[in-house]
Amino acid sequence: MDVPFSANGGHPRQRLVAELRREGVHDERVLAAIGAVPREEFVPPEHRPLAYRNAPLPIGAGQTISQPLVVGLMTQALALTGTERVLEVGTGSGYQAAVLSRLAAEIISVERFPELAERARAVLARLGCANVTVHVSNGSLGWPAGAPYGAIMVTAGAPEVPEALVAQLGAGGRLVIPVGDRASQELVLVTRQDAATRTQRLGPVRFVPLVGEEGWPPDADAPLDPPAEPGG
Ligand code: SAH
Repeated sequence: MDVPFSANGGHPRQRLVAELRREGVHDERVLAAIGAVPREEFVPPEHRPLAYRNAPLPIGAGQTISQPLVVGLMTQALALTGTERVLEVGTGSGYQAAVLSRLAAEIISVERFPELAERARAVLARLGCANVTVHVSNGSLGWPAGAPYGAIMVTAGAPEVPEALVAQLGAGGRLVIPVGDRASQELVLVTRQDAATRTQRLGPVRFVPLVGEEGWPPDADAPLDPPAEPGG
């Protein structure tokens, strides 16, 4: 175990949970889920000492594991009750999927990089997250085979809210997605009533680009100049 314990006692994960609570995550189920998932398992060995900093970290393939505060706020926005089937677009490390796995019935997560998907699958299996399925796919058009979803979370930034994803929400379903330009976005929550949808803005974030038909072209995740600090 190479996560340092603090001199003043307590696992660093519980200190992180306390920090997220102060920063606006108030849903106790979400805080408990974050308090239970070992983030260091989803981080490359060289970054493990930083696993409980409230910061994004590189995970390879030019991608990042999101900042814990953003994981907390996005998860909270979905208002999960435990019965939902949830789609995540952008598995990355698998950390967000592990948090979701404790809060919903079934998680379908799609990732465009096979090597990330494979690593995420292995960690999720080792941690016993049996209700998560990871597919290698371009998820900018969602994963229609699992629709309708009670909730959809996109963990990469899109230029617009993809219509295909809204169409895969069930009645009352909630979609949370960063929308904006390549360098910075705003977190948007779309709630589907029957035919109508309601859109709320939840604040600024920074994510790597969503690449694909309803996202950015494939060269979009070439490094920006100056480099962004993606991953929200
Ligand atoms: N949720 C992740 C963080 C993801 S970073 C975690 O908890 O670690 C964003 C991820 O989205 C990257 O892995 C990137 O490869 C992936 N991605 C970007 N566009 C995608 C697309 N169209 N379909 C599937 N995955 C995509």
